[in-house]
Amino acid sequence: MAGHEQELERGGQTIYPTNFDYYRPSTVQEAIELLGKDRNAKVLAGGHSLLPAMKLRVASPAALVDIGRIKSLAGIKADGKTVTIGALTTHATVVASNVVKSQCPILAETAAMIGDVQVRNRGTIGGSLAHADPAADYPTTIIALGATITATGAKGSRDIPADEFFTGLLTTALKPAELITAISVPAYGAMKGMGGGDEEEEEEGEGDAVGSAAAWMATELAERDDPFPDVLPAVEYALSDQERVDSDSL
Ligand SMILES: Cc1cc2nc3c(=O)[nH]c(=O)nc-3n(C[C@H](O)[C@H](O)[C@H](O)COP(=O)(O)OP(=O)(O)OC[C@H]3O[C@@H](n4cnc5c(N)ncnc54)[C@H](O)[C@@H]3O)c2cc1C
Repeated sequence: MAGHEQELERGGQTIYPTNFDYYRPSTVQEAIELLGKDRNAKVLAGGHSLLPAMKLRVASPAALVDIGRIKSLAGIKADGKTVTIGALTTHATVVASNVVKSQCPILAETAAMIGDVQVRNRGTIGGSLAHADPAADYPTTIIALGATITATGAKGSRDIPADEFFTGLLTTALKPAELITAISVPAYGAMKGMGGGDEEEEEEGEGDAVGSAAAWMATELAERDDPFPDVLPAVEYALSDQERVDSDSL
């Protein structure tokens, strides 16, 4: 789409999108080349964060590079130690994946908490992480799991530890013209308190993804000269004798 500013009439409501070019590459290489041509180009994945931002003109990219047809970016595989999830894999696919459910259940439980069916059917794990919304569900779990985010650019791929990936509000360690191509999480299997609990555990709160992630994160922080000391007592209390974790106390 290009040309003069358009005023679109939709059901009586006026939309004012800024002009943008639209590209639909079929390979990662092609996408990276397109991104490299224009610093103001943006990746379009599920569109569930970017398009609302464009509608409000909070974001006004000069070009959209729609990665939705790049088949190599979607899908889930495991090698016994690691579960690798393509950036374009939707939240719904993560929820339904038997590999994720059996080898990293907390991630499937986290994905199940995201939005509603429509959002889970369109939104992608790569889009959610690249967007870096502090209110999003994936980032906490991804950091707690010690996941690795693979970014690919013109010079090749690099692995970014999840706890170095988020650098601030809506900002990440991604460089211009770099794509998230995959997310790798440890295949820890069934582990008490780490999701995948049976019904009884769920009732006891042991299958609570947020609580488990918080507990893991608290342990990590404790080992690292904790910069947020107030978090630890709150997490400890929340997980001690309450039936379920009360997120307000975290
Ligand atoms: C009604 C509604 C409810 C929602 N509820 C929740 C919720 O409860 N919990 C939650 O966590 N999220 C929620 N979301 C957000 C949702 O999960 C989005 O899907 C997600 O934040 C963005 O994923 P996307 O694939 O739609 O990305 P897009 O909107 O396409 O892109 C988002 C950003 O990431 C960039 N990007 C996308 N893919 C890549 C990539 N592979 N590499 C580099 N950059 C990339 C884009 O350039 C853009 O800046 C909600 C969204 C809506 C509309």
